[in-house]
Amino acid sequence: MKDSSPRARKPRTLAVHAGTRRSQYGEVSEAMFLTQGFVYETAEIAEARFQHSTRDEFIYARYGNPTVAMFEDRMAALEGTEDAFATASGMAAVNGALVSMLRAGDHVVASRALFGSCLYILDEILPRFGVEVTLVDGTDLSAWKAAIRPDTKCVFFESVSNPALEVIDIRGVSDLAHAVGATVIVDNVFVTPTYSRALDLGADVVVYSTTKHIDGQGRCLGGVICGTTEFVRKVAEPYLKHTGAAMSPFNAWVMLKGLEHMDLRVRAQAETCERLAIAVEGHPKLARVIHPHLISHPQQALARKQMEKGGTVLALDLAGGKEAAFRFLNALEIVLISNNLGDAKSIVTHPATTTHQRLPEEQKAELGITPGLVRLSCGLEDADDLIADVLSALDQA
Ligand SMILES: *Cc1c(COP(=O)(O)O)cnc(C)c1O
Repeated sequence: MKDSSPRARKPRTLAVHAGTRRSQYGEVSEAMFLTQGFVYETAEIAEARFQHSTRDEFIYARYGNPTVAMFEDRMAALEGTEDAFATASGMAAVNGALVSMLRAGDHVVASRALFGSCLYILDEILPRFGVEVTLVDGTDLSAWKAAIRPDTKCVFFESVSNPALEVIDIRGVSDLAHAVGATVIVDNVFVTPTYSRALDLGADVVVYSTTKHIDGQGRCLGGVICGTTEFVRKVAEPYLKHTGAAMSPFNAWVMLKGLEHMDLRVRAQAETCERLAIAVEGHPKLARVIHPHLISHPQQALARKQMEKGGTVLALDLAGGKEAAFRFLNALEIVLISNNLGDAKSIVTHPATTTHQRLPEEQKAELGITPGLVRLSCGLEDADDLIADVLSALDQA
């Protein structure tokens, strides 16, 4: 973009143009630089570049690549952060953000309601390296207050949790964390960059699995860590580049193209999701419909404050338990049984037997992962068709 102050542009414009690096050929669509290495004209230039390289002087694709850099700069512009680092998957981003800043003896507070792999990092990996982790009920500010200590190094939570859609008060938790100088790391996947206000609300670092809404068509894995230049380049990058977390240039190119229409997709999917939630709420086969913007959601006021829309995912709790949930899944004709979300195709998951299978029963219960709970990610299909599919499958459940 010719504009020297891209921050002044609106998100839709940034999602199409920000970060573009045009080669000497002046291509319109972003070039895919499928190269692992870069040629130095002289030995002196190679030496100098290994001593110090700018954002557009590349060495090796594990450290950086022009296509990946375009994606990183576009994400930073969209999220409103100074910088970003793209990773091979969402989990590489979560792991990288946490491990790069922590060392033995540090204390972390995290919400208990997390995606299975996030929980594994906090519950299993970090303690192995001498990091003390306190897990709390993320919806309870007094629990955060009780757990955060003067030596707490960082707090971590999913702003809307997977799969039970708990909403965390970003401002409230950030204020408590910042009072002791702790870094606030937010996994913002369910909110999506379209509805994100994480930075305004106090988050220091925002991570996404770009596998979800940013790709949006279920093709590639990816992740991104958005934060200050200090955090991204001085704290996260040395760890990420030496441990092989880099996003592939091909995936970065897919993500760049995904970003161009992400806002359109997410808004359409969120609209469908809200319509579906309203259409099925009160259905006799359902014990509960969970959607952050439904009046019945315990944190709907907070959700409305933090997110313009409730997102693209809802959860249904079938009164008949696992058997009814399985009958429901098997009766769906349009919605696919799989475990991605944010895809153009609607996808349904039974967390208790798949994504969260590993957890002991009492922990599942604590997280609201009942035997009847299904997570439904709304795609880009016609909303009336989807609602009809879900209602018909509920009848058969
Ligand atoms: C999917 C997901 C991840 C992990 O992302 P991958 O790209 O699958 O590694 C992390 N956090 C949340 C909330 C997710 O939904």
